[in-house]
Amino acid sequence: MNRDDSAPEVRNDARLYAASPEGWAAHIKQSWDKEYCFSKHPGEDYFHLLMSGEIFVQHGDEKYCLTCAVRHGILTTDRLNWQHRTNSDRKPLV
Ligand SMILES: [Zn+2]
Repeated sequence: MNRDDSAPEVRNDARLYAASPEGWAAHIKQSWDKEYCFSKHPGEDYFHLLMSGEIFVQHGDEKYCLTCAVRHGILTTDRLNWQHRTNSDRKPLV
């Protein structure tokens, strides 16, 4: 059991934060219907399936797996992301 509560960095912190949460929602895929991530993984030329039980984020018709959402900056592991960004960092989604 780890009793070191004073550790400044929490390792293996699985929390994710939406950098600009307006319009985004997180879901757990409930069905086995074929639904695809809106993005492709680097080096892959196909859209990958979202699995039943997979957590994904959605904005309108766009659905992203968490890996792609983090890669696109939709989600971040930076808990204080709003303090660390400047206006020039805010890029519109394409
Ligand atoms: Zn994806």
